[in-house]
Amino acid sequence: MALRDVFMSLSENQLLNGMAQKYGLRMGAQSVVAGTTIPEVVETIKELNKANISCTVDNLGEFVFEKSAATAAKANILEVIQAIHDENLDAHISLKPSQLGQDIDIDFCYENLKEIVSVAHGYGIFVNFDMENYARLQSSFDLLEKLHVEYDNVGTVIQAYFFESEANIEKYKNFRLRIVKGAYKENPDVAYQSKEDIDEAYLRLIEQHLLIGKFTSIATHDHNVINHVKKFVKDNNIPNDKFEFQMLYGFRKEMQYDLAKEGYNFCTYLPFGNDWYGYFMRRLAERPQNLALVSKQVFTK
Ligand code: FAD
Repeated sequence: MALRDVFMSLSENQLLNGMAQKYGLRMGAQSVVAGTTIPEVVETIKELNKANISCTVDNLGEFVFEKSAATAAKANILEVIQAIHDENLDAHISLKPSQLGQDIDIDFCYENLKEIVSVAHGYGIFVNFDMENYARLQSSFDLLEKLHVEYDNVGTVIQAYFFESEANIEKYKNFRLRIVKGAYKENPDVAYQSKEDIDEAYLRLIEQHLLIGKFTSIATHDHNVINHVKKFVKDNNIPNDKFEFQMLYGFRKEMQYDLAKEGYNFCTYLPFGNDWYGYFMRRLAERPQNLALVSKQVFTK
C-alpha cells in the first residue's frame, strides 16, 4: 500500500478520530491547525490581517452522523461569524455541508446552512462550501444553487481531478469559485489519477474561470502554478481584484507573506477546533514530506 493510501485510510478512521479529539492537538497538528478555541483563532487572524492577509476560517468537523452534532457545529460557526463581525476582521467562513447534516437529512442540512448564510449575509461575510468526495458533489452543488436564489454571499470549490469540472465551471460560472487540485481518493471512472493529468486540468480550469471574470481563488502551494497564474493574468489584463491566492495555514508561510507583499490578494485557510484528525491525515497523504511536521514535533518535545 502506498504511503498516500495509508494516510487516506487513517483519515477515515473514526476510532482514531475520537481519540484525537479527546487528547487535543498532537503529532505536529498544532503547526497546521490554528488552535482549538475562538479567541486563539481570532488572535491568528489579527496577526495575518496586519500583513494584509485575509483568512477563511474552517471550524473543523467530520463524521457527523447525529443531528445534535450538526446543530453544535452550526452554533460554533455562528459564533465565529459573530466574532469576525465584532472584531471587524478581514475573514470569511469555509464549511463542509457534511458537517451540517448532509449525510443525515438533506432538508435539515439545508436549514442549517440557510441560517448560517443568512446571518453571514447580514454582516456582509462570505461563506464558502468546501468540496469533499465525489459521492457528495452533486448534492453540495444543489444545496448551493438553492441558497444562491436568495443569497449572493455563497461560493464553492471546483476540484481539478474530476472529469466533469470543466462543465461545472461553465454551469456555476455565476459563483465565486475556489479552484483546487482535489484532496480525496477518487475512482478512475470519475477522476484523473496521474499528477500530470491533474496538474494540466488544474491550469485549464483556473484560466477558464479567470477569463469568465468572476472572482477566482487559486488555492495551491505549487509555485509552478502560482508563477503560471502571475504571467497569465498579466498577459490577459486581468486585474488583481478579480482573483486571490490561497494556501493552508502553516504551509509555505514565507511565500504567503511574500505574495501579499507583492500586492496580490492573499487568503490563508485557517482550520481550528478539536476535530483536527482527518484534516491532518489528508495533509500527510498529499505530501508525505509533511511528516517532517510530525517528526519535528516528536523530537522537540
Ligand atoms: P501539490 O500537488 O501537493 O504540490 C505541487 C508542488 O508544489 C510539489 O511538488 C512541491 O514542489 C510544491 N509544494 C507543495 N507543497 C509544498 C510545501 N508545503 N512546501 C514546499 N513546497 C511545496 N481539496 C479539496 O478536495 N476540497 C477543498 O475544498 C479544498 N480546499 C482547499 C483550500 C485551500 C486553501 C488549499 C490550499 C487546498 C485545498 N484543498 C482542497 C486541497 C487541494 O485539493 C490539494 O490537495 C492540496 O492543496 C495539494 O495540492 P497543491 O496544489 O497544494 O500542490
